[in-house]
Amino acid sequence: MTTSQPAAKGKRVAIRQDLFTTPLDDLNAVHLKGTKCNDCGEVFMGHVISCAHCGSESMKGIVFNDQGTLYTYSVIQYVPPGDYKGPKDPFIPFVEGLVELPDGIRIVAPVLDCDPKNARINMPLKLKVYDFFKDEEGNDVVAFCYVPA
Ligand SMILES: [Zn+2]
Repeated sequence: MTTSQPAAKGKRVAIRQDLFTTPLDDLNAVHLKGTKCNDCGEVFMGHVISCAHCGSESMKGIVFNDQGTLYTYSVIQYVPPGDYKGPKDPFIPFVEGLVELPDGIRIVAPVLDCDPKNARINMPLKLKVYDFFKDEEGNDVVAFCYVPA
């Protein structure tokens, strides 16, 4: 720390760099970012400097559509191993979806606000960007999921 001011509380930080459009002030106005290959059209999440499909370095940044559909899914019944930040006690089973976006990519993401019994392949979904947990510095860590549209 090079400043004598107290650390700002409640600052928002993205769970992963280059994932979201900024600023993060109004989470309803935040979208997912991706990269598209100018040569073969392959689409990737976040910022990518070369295409894993064709090797091209001609890439452009894109903003993903907020709408998607549930391509397939599984229901997570037990606390995932590792550093799981969701509710643990009690753990709430949730839908982990493979969400198909019109941008030509499928994204693995939790589908929240959705009882697993009600999950259906092809159901319309929309992006939700939210404060997921507080880190050690008191920042709100921003994550994303999908919810029924
Ligand atoms: Zn390519």
